[in-house]
Amino acid sequence: MEAPDFKDFAKSMVDYIANYLENIRDRPVLPTIEPGYLRPLVPERAPERAEPWTAIMEDLERVVMPGVTHWHSPRFHAYFPTANSYPAIVADMLSGAIACIGFTWIASPACTELEVVMLDWLGQMLGLPEQFLARSGGEGGGVIQGTASEATLVALLAAKSRMLQRTKEQHPEWTEAEIVSKLVGYCNKQAHSSVERAGLLGGVRLRQLRPDDRHRLRGDAVRDAIDEDIRNGLIPFYVVATLGTTSSCSFDALQEIGEVCRERGVWLHVDAAYAGSAFICPEYRYLMAGVELADSFNFNPHKWMLVNFDCSAMWLKEPRWVVDAFNVDPLYLKHEQQGSAPDYRHWQIPLGRRFRALKLWFVLRLYGVENLQKFIRNHIAQAHLFEKLCAADERFEIVEEVIMGLVCFRLKGSNELNEELLKRINGRGKIHLVPSKIDDVYFLRLAVCSRFSDDNDIHFSWQEVKDAADEVLKTHKD
Ligand code: PLP
Repeated sequence: MEAPDFKDFAKSMVDYIANYLENIRDRPVLPTIEPGYLRPLVPERAPERAEPWTAIMEDLERVVMPGVTHWHSPRFHAYFPTANSYPAIVADMLSGAIACIGFTWIASPACTELEVVMLDWLGQMLGLPEQFLARSGGEGGGVIQGTASEATLVALLAAKSRMLQRTKEQHPEWTEAEIVSKLVGYCNKQAHSSVERAGLLGGVRLRQLRPDDRHRLRGDAVRDAIDEDIRNGLIPFYVVATLGTTSSCSFDALQEIGEVCRERGVWLHVDAAYAGSAFICPEYRYLMAGVELADSFNFNPHKWMLVNFDCSAMWLKEPRWVVDAFNVDPLYLKHEQQGSAPDYRHWQIPLGRRFRALKLWFVLRLYGVENLQKFIRNHIAQAHLFEKLCAADERFEIVEEVIMGLVCFRLKGSNELNEELLKRINGRGKIHLVPSKIDDVYFLRLAVCSRFSDDNDIHFSWQEVKDAADEVLKTHKD
């Protein structure tokens, strides 16, 4: 393809994208196709001869859209949001054009340097302690990981290498394998599955601790578990505190947990994947009190801060525990300025990395902190509107305090009744929700996800839930 065609193709695609997003509310949120729907719609083999770009445009509605779940529809309330905005889309175009692989500073200095500065901007927006920021002139700094799962794993590996070194100093007679076999980490039973997975990938045991009756991991539970394990000859090395659990958006008691970790010399990682975006609003920062006690902190601007996937922001106070521990330095990756700026390849699992800081830069500049705060507050207000509508209907109960943009609710009655309710809601095809279960209580989660969502959409979704409940309760009466 030559430049004139590229310009026409890209302009046509931009029109298509804007039309798609601005009218997304009118599309059924869930596709109604069956597995295997797509193969008959495309040829058996790749074309021998080049096609015109217009042929692709013609196929989008025929081949792709029937199988798309519209995550940005205001009718989409499943999981947690994934972010989307025009500035981020445009930034990804530029990133695709520059198409550098910024594994070291020299591999594309702007890619590294913009990331360092953006993580400082973002860290200040959240009110993170200076120790986490590169601008402090200390060791700390931020990095963009692909996902929160990678951040949790990187933090675990850093904690592991720190504890290995400390233990080797105290017990030079122990082998590395012996030490690793004694390492144990901790998290809330309600922590995301990626935390358990990080333990598996890191080859260490991870204990899931029981939270309190509001599903928050408390300091006492962590202290008791750590002390019990020390008595049994194990070596506690890592704790994950979750701020905004996936199952019900509850917040672990960070201050309490942080104090225990500091007393026992254990690495504390904060997983605020979804809720972290809300800390750009000062009124929600009480939920991260104690963050100064953490060793690493992570949240996903790609969930709730209008930066398209993938953009998971992570800060470390002492990145050397990752950088030095996994430093493999072949000649072809060396450069003369090594040490004067981060070589981000050492901060992450893969070698290659895209120019992701561009989309953060574009979003922060073109929205401004003020509009990002408005966006968050607006979503939380919509969640409270749904909560109010639901609480006013005596057939329903709210099962968790609504703090962010997630409402956890159920019909009063059995789990089976609520399973049926969810099936009806999704079966009617107008809105999409997923369930959750805590301590054998099954409930529905309604997340406010779309940047297009407004109060009318919430009323629409509530009407759908109510109508589905009418149908379910009627069949139970008959
Ligand atoms: N942690 C929490 C609390 C989450 O809610 C999620 C996803 O929803 C994750 C981690 C995993 O996020 P990612 O897909 O970025 O790995």
